[in-house]
Amino acid sequence: MTARADTTTWSTGLPVLKGDLLFHDDARRSVATDLGNVVRREPQAVLRPRSPGDVAAMITFCRERGITVAARGQAHTTNGQALTDGLVIECRSLDEINFTGPYTVEVGSGVLWKDLAAAAFERTPRLTPPVLTGYTGLTVGGTLSMGGVGGIVGGLRTGLQVDHVRELEVVTGTGSVERCSPEHGSDLFKAVLGGLGQCGVITKAVLALVPAKERARTYALDYTSNPAFFRDLRTAIARPGIDHVYAEVYPPGAPATHRLLATVLYDPSHAPDDRSVTEGLSGETTVEDSTYLDYVFSIDLLIDELRATAGWDRLLKPWYDVWIPGESIEEYLAEIHPSLTSEDLGPYGAVLIYPQRRDLVGGPYPRLPEPDGSDWAFVLDINTVAETVDTDRRFFDRMLDRNGGLFARARGEYGAVLYPIGSVRFTAEDWREHFGQAWPAFRRAKACFDPDGILAPGPGIFDGS
Ligand SMILES: Cc1cc2nc3c(=O)[nH]c(=O)nc-3n(C[C@H](O)[C@H](O)[C@H](O)COP(=O)(O)OP(=O)(O)OC[C@H]3O[C@@H](n4cnc5c(N)ncnc54)[C@H](O)[C@@H]3O)c2cc1C
Repeated sequence: MTARADTTTWSTGLPVLKGDLLFHDDARRSVATDLGNVVRREPQAVLRPRSPGDVAAMITFCRERGITVAARGQAHTTNGQALTDGLVIECRSLDEINFTGPYTVEVGSGVLWKDLAAAAFERTPRLTPPVLTGYTGLTVGGTLSMGGVGGIVGGLRTGLQVDHVRELEVVTGTGSVERCSPEHGSDLFKAVLGGLGQCGVITKAVLALVPAKERARTYALDYTSNPAFFRDLRTAIARPGIDHVYAEVYPPGAPATHRLLATVLYDPSHAPDDRSVTEGLSGETTVEDSTYLDYVFSIDLLIDELRATAGWDRLLKPWYDVWIPGESIEEYLAEIHPSLTSEDLGPYGAVLIYPQRRDLVGGPYPRLPEPDGSDWAFVLDINTVAETVDTDRRFFDRMLDRNGGLFARARGEYGAVLYPIGSVRFTAEDWREHFGQAWPAFRRAKACFDPDGILAPGPGIFDGS
């Protein structure tokens, strides 16, 4: 099913488009890599669509000529997931936000979550997406294609971002524009959410919104012991008054090796009682209080600063991201923590843990670990960032070897599953294992919605099929 990238000329048969189709070097080079900065694939052309019709017309054109197509959001994946040497569709130009009901919004797939969060908060009553990623400068289409873990909002009492989608508009690999939902076209709907762009390009999404609280109070608790940290983590995620929890882990020898961040969202008329929020938690605590949006954009501020001062976009980022079963996270972290060095993080990196309540995750994708009796699964990220923009490429290779070793052990020993936003070398056989019992259905969906295998070649899921 792999498409041949042939050398067919682009000079005949091009459709009339509302948006732009660009062939010049600047446009092609600007989308030739991603946030990881290692995989490089220069496309032959770049589409900046202005309508689903543009996407459909160009997919039809490419399909007839065996040209591969990759949708691109912000390309904040790190191993070439959004790259192709065929046609790149830059979805950012699909940027409309329309509030269609009291608690629903229809957005173009190129809308950034931060723009949606800001627009929703301005509504009366104030609204918010129920799940927001830690960094919100990511596109709706990009995170819905991966899963969308609640890095700053959601996770304890919500599913993933894909679990809060009401309807999608998708252009399939046959060039057909489809509306799909759990009720109509559910095969396509399921295959596209968390489906790594394999079965269609999302052009619009109808998303659920929920009432937003005005403020956020975050309790940061520091630890030097793995068991004490996990005791408190498990208490915090089960505590009804706490709305969000994530954790940072630092290499051994740091003054604090684990930090728990627990946040309560509230309206000023119901300010949290600090003592009951932290009751029984042993870590040394600092409290930070802010408006809801300042809280939501707190990671964005850090990244913006690194963009301005450290050349963030050009630094190598060999990221390792896995789902660990709920019962195993403590043992797994205890195993890998002693081996973490300052090189594993670099001056701008982070090791992060995100809890996700399992019963609120509904779809077949993204893949989660097999149930282990725990109510929880955890995403663990080692977000390694190189020190300077001149860092040797061998650093990336070394880190890819590290990621491969870590993942083989995590999968073999703990039943971990890749969260495929980062940089782990994966063969077609690895992908088959990754999808597990869902593989036949995923393969069938690919054959149905992208029969010529032109979409999203980056991860190599169907290589050799
Ligand atoms: C600082 C930082 C913090 C992050 N925090 C979180 C977090 O809290 N939770 C989390 O889940 N992730 C997080 N991520 C990872 C992020 O979710 C993924 O990298 C996500 O894919 C990025 O969105 P994007 O717009 O850059 O997508 P891209 O990287 O552009 O695309 C991702 C994949 O989806 C495909 N795709 C893109 N748009 C479409 C579309 N419209 N239709 C079909 N396929 C499409 C691409 O071809 C590619 O395969 C973080 C990343 C960074 C850099």
